[in-house]
Amino acid sequence: MSNITRKFKRKNAGKNKKQTKKQLKEQISNLNKMDNKCIFCDAPYDRTNSEHLDSFRVSIKENDIKLCCGDCWAKRPGNL
Ligand SMILES: [Zn+2]
Repeated sequence: MSNITRKFKRKNAGKNKKQTKKQLKEQISNLNKMDNKCIFCDAPYDRTNSEHLDSFRVSIKENDIKLCCGDCWAKRPGNL
């Protein structure tokens, strides 16, 4: 009984998040296509590193994605 309820809940939650998930998937596929490094100093960007997630800036303009590490962002604010 509880199993069925859990499954049903998960199914519903998935339905509600469908649009967001799709957008996220597209963003991730875009991120996968780009170089995972800072455009200024080539510092590697690790998406699994939460410190990198916090410090790196990502600029997405149309299909152009730029990454900037925290250090370069501090030196060049707004220049991404
Ligand atoms: Zn940098």
